[in-house]
Amino acid sequence: MARKQPKRRKHVPQRTCVVCRTTTDKRTLTRLVRTPDDGIHVDPTGKRPGRGAYLCDNPACWDKALHSDVLANALRTTLTDADRERIRAAHPRLAQG
Ligand SMILES: [Zn+2]
Repeated sequence: MARKQPKRRKHVPQRTCVVCRTTTDKRTLTRLVRTPDDGIHVDPTGKRPGRGAYLCDNPACWDKALHSDVLANALRTTLTDADRERIRAAHPRLAQG
């Protein structure tokens, strides 16, 4: 006999990857933040002030973020070379190549 067990799940904040639009829990996404005077930074704590955008861990999304306007548009800015370097360095798979 089937007994329904109420699942007690903690609420996990959901965020959307700006490239592939996958919505998943915040911890599997990387937050990028546009700082007022220091370009775009990766924000592992998720607490830096500034306009933020999230990327999932799919390298293809990071690649597209770096080589298209998707991320720049999401952050309402343009990516500088220094921004791209920082972002690339933050993803283990991209940092290798
Ligand atoms: Zn994605």
